[in-house]
Amino acid sequence: MKDFLVPLAIDLIRMKNTSPEAINTSAEFCANWLGQQGLSIKVLENQGLKSVVAVGGQSDSGETLILNGHLDVVPGDPLDFVPRIEDGKLFGRGSYDMLGAVAAMMIVTAEIAKQPSACKVVLQLVPDEETGGQCGTGFLVEQGARGDFVICGEPTNLHIAVQAKGVLQLQIEVSGIAAHGSRPWLGKNAITRALENYQNIQSLDFLHASSKFFQRPSFNLAKIEGGKAINQVPDHCSFHLDIRYLPNQDPEQILADIKNVVSDATVTVVQQGDPVQTDENDRHVSLLQKTTSELTGKPIKLFGQDGSADTRFYAKHAIPAVEFGPVGANHHGPDEHVNIESLYTYQQILKNFITKQNERMILHEIKK
Ligand SMILES: [Zn+2]
Repeated sequence: MKDFLVPLAIDLIRMKNTSPEAINTSAEFCANWLGQQGLSIKVLENQGLKSVVAVGGQSDSGETLILNGHLDVVPGDPLDFVPRIEDGKLFGRGSYDMLGAVAAMMIVTAEIAKQPSACKVVLQLVPDEETGGQCGTGFLVEQGARGDFVICGEPTNLHIAVQAKGVLQLQIEVSGIAAHGSRPWLGKNAITRALENYQNIQSLDFLHASSKFFQRPSFNLAKIEGGKAINQVPDHCSFHLDIRYLPNQDPEQILADIKNVVSDATVTVVQQGDPVQTDENDRHVSLLQKTTSELTGKPIKLFGQDGSADTRFYAKHAIPAVEFGPVGANHHGPDEHVNIESLYTYQQILKNFITKQNERMILHEIKK
């Protein structure tokens, strides 16, 4: 089925999966394609967005592997949705993040379904990873989706992300006292107070932590609003912080520390997302690393992602989950592309990984 790979990825890029309508059309397209391969398919809808679940292999005794791919892509120029092949690369929005990997996962699941299997492969195609993942993977996990190991096909250049930082996004509203700009000593300037608060937060210890996979947490002053007129002391200033904490840090403690150093301010959590901390010695991780290294002839790194992905919904339930995808560049930017040869390698790695998993499970059964 090797020859389906690039055409399928091209079809998916052309669908311009940036709106709910386009994503749902894409989900239906994938469901039909998978159905034609003889797989049992479910299309689930949540808040108007469709997810596709396809099952390959049949085993009550063996393990369940989840292959998870998101169909949505970030916006781009019109030309980003006209796929083109140049120098062995497939260019187009989503080629790397992550429609190329989705196409490979679809083909592998279809192939696995046609051979005896000791483990179940569940393919999940979801609609909203780029906007938080709650309607897709979050919903599927809430509905009871579980497995022994999860691969999310995010762009990783064939290395394996076993950890991801947690997300803590805050709004800090600072109050002051308005006065005429010519007599500022009669008021209390909310903007300068916000600046002091920001500096106090910046000096907190949690921002200087590091771990094996991360040099530091991420800390970004993302938005600031304050002031109404040039001749007035502002009585209100609001700023947003995007904090990505290390997997071993406690978001409750970070929040408490922040509340402790700000004054005339209220702190509101806009969004919190769990970190991912898959055990680097997990046997599935080792098998995936070995399989990839055998096929590429290169050492494969385990690493930590600064950003978060749908792996976090599984991490919450202590299910080992990794991000693992093909080689490419420029996701979310201009000239996004995936290296076509690596896409074929990726497909083969997934297949070998599952087959080895099968062999291992069969051996395990015989020994019993
Ligand atoms: Zn992605």
